[in-house]
Amino acid sequence: MKKVLILMIEGGGGHRASAKAIISGLESLYGDEIVTSIVDVSKEHWCPLVNRMDDIYRWLTTDGLWLWKALWVTDNRPWVPQIAARLLTPFFRGTLNRIFATEKPDLVVAVHSFVNHLPLRVLRQSAGPYIPFVTVITDMVTVHPAWCCPDVDYCMVPTTAARERVLGYGMPPDRVEVVGQPVNIAFTRGLGNRSAIRRKLGWDAALPCVLLVGGGDGVGPLYETAQAIASGVHSVQLAVVTGRNVGLKAQLEAVDWGIPVHIYGFVNNMPELMSASDLLVTKAGPGTIAEAFIAGLPVILFSFIPGQEEGNVKYVQAHQAGAYAQEPGEIVDVVRAWLDPENDRLKQVVANASALACPDAVLVIAERLYRILL
Ligand code: UDP
Repeated sequence: MKKVLILMIEGGGGHRASAKAIISGLESLYGDEIVTSIVDVSKEHWCPLVNRMDDIYRWLTTDGLWLWKALWVTDNRPWVPQIAARLLTPFFRGTLNRIFATEKPDLVVAVHSFVNHLPLRVLRQSAGPYIPFVTVITDMVTVHPAWCCPDVDYCMVPTTAARERVLGYGMPPDRVEVVGQPVNIAFTRGLGNRSAIRRKLGWDAALPCVLLVGGGDGVGPLYETAQAIASGVHSVQLAVVTGRNVGLKAQLEAVDWGIPVHIYGFVNNMPELMSASDLLVTKAGPGTIAEAFIAGLPVILFSFIPGQEEGNVKYVQAHQAGAYAQEPGEIVDVVRAWLDPENDRLKQVVANASALACPDAVLVIAERLYRILL
């Protein structure tokens, strides 16, 4: 039996979702032959500034956007993360050595930009057998150079645009493969008839449903958008996923909507919610977009995290696989147009989005990892 250790740092919902997606692929192809574990490196560190990275990320991508944008100045300077890793190695060595000693992996996979250079340095500097190290990049286009560590054994990326970008950061071409975004195989299993799923969820089986999502942290103008749709679109129901944003959930629950509105916190049944919905209105998170492509759900993007998610909007627009509408009023216009059953444009958008779907990505990733393990 071989052990695959997936390293990540919680921030939004995408990194954990990607880790779980890779595990779903490994389990589906290799069952008990491979054991897996996911470790959030930040949570294992003693320093309160480091082990609250999830809260810091949430702040950086909301109120602290000015600082987040400043960090993206390192965007085209791949030497910055390399030097940072050298300087920070002593600070992380104990934590990482403890993780490796406890987990005893035969293969390490990184699904976060911060856990490539540092863990690899620590791993290569320690005695013991050679443990291969693989990066699975989960940003669609605008990949930060921190992801790119030319010494990794293999690197998998979601799109050709991402590959071009990482080659520009010095990644060796023979070790970078385009496989698609890792999406849990639960999204590829037919969940059945939409009306039946709606009934199971306690929704109105006949009314079209718009699903609103703001990533794992429930960020973006979800409240304003819900209000605009509730007052501006006839004969519709809403499902709003607020993720870990408890304040937003309470705010939404306090409203008398006048239409059916289903409000959720952090859900574990996103495949079901997507299958039951007609449209998705979301921030431009790569995980959510890739899941919607597979679910055949038309996507309206209302915002993006600067830097990291900017490319996702351009990617969707360039392939005409969705719409970008920032203001609630604009979103309402697109929702109205897309809920019109006679709308041929929507059929084309769905066809374009489906063409970008990579339902097999996790199986390809699993197969590559297995080959490296042998
Ligand atoms: N997600 C989830 N439950 C929730 C909210 C989000 O499982 O309540 C998942 C969603 O399906 C996706 C991921 O979290 O897989 C969000 O990733 P994305 O890259 O879209 O955005 P992030 O939250 O990382 O900014």
